[in-house]
Formats: sequence, structure tokens, C-alpha cells
Amino acid sequence: MNFEAVIFDADETIFNNQGIHIIVTGKVLANLGLSKDLVEEVHSKWDEYYFSEQSRVVDEDGFCIDRENAARSLVLALKEFDIEITQEKAGKYWEYMIEEYEHRSKPYPDALSLIEYLPEKGIKMAIVSNGDTDIIVKRLENAKIKHHFEFVIAPCNEYPLTKPDVKIFQESLSKLQISAEKTVFVGDNPHSDVMGANRAGMFSVLIDRYAVFDELDGLMVPDLKISSFEEMKYIFEK
Ligand SMILES: [Mg+2]
Repeated sequence: MNFEAVIFDADETIFNNQGIHIIVTGKVLANLGLSKDLVEEVHSKWDEYYFSEQSRVVDEDGFCIDRENAARSLVLALKEFDIEITQEKAGKYWEYMIEEYEHRSKPYPDALSLIEYLPEKGIKMAIVSNGDTDIIVKRLENAKIKHHFEFVIAPCNEYPLTKPDVKIFQESLSKLQISAEKTVFVGDNPHSDVMGANRAGMFSVLIDRYAVFDELDGLMVPDLKISSFEEMKYIFEK
């Protein structure tokens, strides 16, 4: 299988984000002087709107900037509890997002191990995310692994693209100057990661750490499904 590059998704592929968004929700509620009893419910509404708004905005504009989507979906989530805040105020809570993700979100140990292993095999690495470039870069720096990656691409005005748009995958291949057949894409989302990688003709890997994906079909079927990165090291043995 002679692969020359691995492109990673960031969140929940490299970085463990478990429990962080709920902490951010708690801080938002505290700032608004609201009861923390609402935290679970507000968090789950915020999450719901985050994904539905992301697809709606991508359908309309072709891409979706994470920071704006987080604010927009928070306004909608709070409205469900009869709490009205402006988009501008919601935008200010991005600070909480930066703070908590930068400090709490760390690479999974098996991801770290793979990231240290691949350069020994002469494999290039990059990151293509639907999240926020600055927060990803900060976390890579904190973990002292940023130097391993050729680049980080996430939707922004320079790259007005959101996965699974095939163009963001093609763009990353041309930056790496490596063909799709020699590139592995690994992510935790069958829709944005696996479908996009399959469309681009890359070798697609789904990391399903929490065993949530039993039945997938069509372009969401990965070439390889794993529950830990230890299970994919063998594909790089020559
Ligand atoms: Mg992810």
C-alpha cells in the first residue's frame, strides 16, 4: 500500500474533547446569571443547532466558519429557553471556547503515538478540519507536535470550503503535492471525513473510538474502520 501522506481531521480524531463543550455551556449560563440546572439541556440544544445550522449555512454559502456558527447556534438554543441574547453577545462567548479547548483538549495517547511514528516512516502529515485554525494550532503547540504537520486547513475566508466538499480535500492534496491514491485520510465523522475522502479517491479511515457507527452505507463506508490508531500502523509497513 505505499502511502506517502496522512491527513487528519482534528477534533475527536487527534484531540479528546469529551466534556469540554458542557463546561463552556456552564460558563455561558453563569455569565448570564442563569441556573446551572439548565446546563445539560442547553448544551444538548446548542449541539443540535450547531450541526443543523452548519448544514444549512453550507447549503447556502458553500462553507461555514466555526466561530460564527457557534454564536448563531447558541442564540437559537437559548431562545428555546426564552432567553434572548444578541448575536454579538453570543460571539463574545467564543473567548470561553478558546480558553477551555486550549487548556483541556489534549491529543488521545494513541494519536500522539501515531503522530510520532509516521515521520519515522517518511510519511507527511497535515490537518483538514471544519473547526477553527487558531484553536487547533494552539493545541498542537501545547502538545509540542505542531512541527510534524505541513499545514492546518479549516473553513475561513482563505479556504471558503467545508468538509465533505471534495474541493477542500483536493486543495490539501495539491498543497502536499501527493496523489490521492498515496494519501490516507482519517477522521471520526462518516459524513464530513469519510465521504469527502472517498469522493477524492483517498484511502479513508474511520476512527470510531466509542463504537457508535454500526451500519454505514454508500460513500460513508470507510476503507478501514478502527477504534484506536494502533490498529492502523500496519498499513505503513513496507
Ligand atoms: Mg472530528
